[in-house]
Amino acid sequence: MLLQNERSEIVRFGRKMLAARLTSGTGGNLSIFDRNEGLVAISPSGIEYEDMTPDDVPVVDGAGKLVEGTRKPSSELGFHLALYRQRPDIRAVVHTHSVYATTMACLHWEIPAVHYLVAFSGQKVPLAPYATFGSEELAARVAETIGGYNAVLLANHGLVTVGPNLATAFAVAEEIELVAQIYYQAKCIGTPVIVPEGEMDRVIGKFATYGQKG
Ligand code: 13P
Ligand code: ZN
Repeated sequence: MLLQNERSEIVRFGRKMLAARLTSGTGGNLSIFDRNEGLVAISPSGIEYEDMTPDDVPVVDGAGKLVEGTRKPSSELGFHLALYRQRPDIRAVVHTHSVYATTMACLHWEIPAVHYLVAFSGQKVPLAPYATFGSEELAARVAETIGGYNAVLLANHGLVTVGPNLATAFAVAEEIELVAQIYYQAKCIGTPVIVPEGEMDRVIGKFATYGQKG
């Protein structure tokens, strides 16, 4: 079986995404890009995360052609591939419909540095203009918005996060959802104070060695 570990990871993190309430139903999707093999394991379209097995996870090449598996790949294969083409450091993509991040996306707001944890994305979380789910236009909008950030809000839709591996892309989705919730709550009772750009640069620098890294 091609990309056996990666396909198991897609199943495992799909269930985690649901358990962490980052999505509901069959919403959202995940993928891993093995750059050595030039192959992508991506969640299948419209299959319940609880029911999904590694066999259900299709493997496609960099052009999106099915290489192994019987299921139809996620309808958002387009933006997953566009992100892998756009940034050579990206090896995993997570897409969620998490409630607070999506609330910001429905207001067409970006998420500013309201809390230092926005550093999981960068100085902010930018917003990609609205385009129909699963469309080539959405893929183009996401790819042109990502820049050096690790997260992008999709107008009237949800959140996309990226990372060097699936665990990191997943952590970005979790932390950005927390920041979105804090932003929402702070806005409800007052005017949030934004962390200055210079301080965010310091935080982003410290993140490079945070935990057991470096
Ligand atoms: P898929 O089930 O096709 O991945 O679609 C879910 C989704 O979130 C579309 O944006
Ligand atoms: Zn979606």
